[in-house]
Amino acid sequence: MTAFSVGKASIIRVEETYGPTYPVKEIFAACTDAILAEHAAWLAPSHYDQPSGKIKLSVHSWLIEIGGKKILIDCCCGNNKIKPGRPFWNMLDTPYLERLAAAGARPQDIDFVMCTHLHHDHVGWNTQLSNGRWVPTFPNARYVISKPDFEYFKALDDDPKTAPAEMGTFRECVLPIIEAGRAELVTGPHRLNEHFDIVPAPGHSAGHVVFRLESGAQQAVFIGDVFHHLLQVYYPDWNFPKNSDVEQARVSRRKVLELCASSGALTLPGHVGAPFAGHIEATASGFQPRF
Ligand SMILES: [Zn+2]
Repeated sequence: MTAFSVGKASIIRVEETYGPTYPVKEIFAACTDAILAEHAAWLAPSHYDQPSGKIKLSVHSWLIEIGGKKILIDCCCGNNKIKPGRPFWNMLDTPYLERLAAAGARPQDIDFVMCTHLHHDHVGWNTQLSNGRWVPTFPNARYVISKPDFEYFKALDDDPKTAPAEMGTFRECVLPIIEAGRAELVTGPHRLNEHFDIVPAPGHSAGHVVFRLESGAQQAVFIGDVFHHLLQVYYPDWNFPKNSDVEQARVSRRKVLELCASSGALTLPGHVGAPFAGHIEATASGFQPRF
């Protein structure tokens, strides 16, 4: 189990999946053999699968305990969700809830679920099937959801030409939370409570946010999909595919890298491989990860 502490907060990674996914050169068109050779010392085996040429990605949540509250950041893909266009997400049957219990939280113990954005692999466990209906998995939680992201996907879902939004995820994993009265729609920048504030970082999705945690003199930044892979720290202009605004995604990546580097925050991405979190260092020419 991967655990960190930041001030009085304990942070545990709860894994859904971790392994080789997409060919690196399909994901990052600018990636060359020379670049792979330059970074070979750290890429394999945690971030790159040499035999297949595929990047390794993790899908996980972050469980945080602070001030007697349990907070879950980003909810992976969930079980039983039919996503035929996404082989890594389709009809999963993982022991995610058992792993969450091993990390110290049953579903009813979670006080807040916080979503960096509303893509499928971040909201899947928001809901689970019960008697053929999608219902909130965490019955006592307030679900913190970016209002600009909600409005963006709602417009797509309302339009017959683009519905159902996000391959049905909006109806399965987001609307049931709203209908159950458990959602808190927020627009950043926004101070959530004494520990967390919400910083807009749009581009990967229209209303993507990052969550900044402060405790004592220490900080952590949960960056969601501002970058998916550590190569993007060295090459901040490299976008992972599927952005609502490619230029804005680059602007937000540089802004968040700057925030993480200048604050010395523990940086916790949504998909980076082992050790899953670390620090960002500013260099003469840009940034480098200290993971
Ligand atoms: Zn993601």
